[in-house]
Amino acid sequence: MMRIGYGWDSHAFKPGVPLKIGGVAFDHPAGLAGHSDGDVLLHAITDALLGAVAAGDIGSFFPPGDPRWKDADSAVFLQTALEEIRHAGYRIANIDTTLVLAAPKIGPVAEKLRERLAELLSIDPGAVSVKAKTPEGLNQDDVAVAHAIVLLEKLDDDALLERMAAVEEPQVQMDDVVRKLVGRTTSAQTRKPGFNTDDIS
Ligand code: MG
Repeated sequence: MMRIGYGWDSHAFKPGVPLKIGGVAFDHPAGLAGHSDGDVLLHAITDALLGAVAAGDIGSFFPPGDPRWKDADSAVFLQTALEEIRHAGYRIANIDTTLVLAAPKIGPVAEKLRERLAELLSIDPGAVSVKAKTPEGLNQDDVAVAHAIVLLEKLDDDALLERMAAVEEPQVQMDDVVRKLVGRTTSAQTRKPGFNTDDIS
């Protein structure tokens, strides 16, 4: 069984702040404004993962304005989304992304971005795609936009047992596996706060 998820985000460029995209720091005169570190690509991927298991969106887990997430590393948001898909019994089959921004050029660092994303997502770089376009005709040179789409595949019983054997907290994971094997719902919906469409920016 497979599920698909889509995420989108945008952030305005702001002179003098650090630029981080896809967990990679860029040497650039402007960064992305936001309550967190403004990593537009990680935010889009986080929403795609949450959407794939119908677990809400980034704003429902990390409400805008919450002081805990001021200047937060967006990798934290991504890890939360990964936990949600793991709890739902899925793993990532592949992920495809598109960045839309005037500068900096993504081409020269696309491989580095893929490798960093693969590392953050704990998947093979071959399962990660990073594409980039300039916003021709959109008059949006001061904005970075990211789109992400992810395909998830359901773990079978063997894979769930394998996962259990590979982790450090066997009892917790055993409980998790037992729930899966007896078919009980372990919906993320019961663990997340109320739905909130606000972005964390
Ligand atoms: Mg955002």
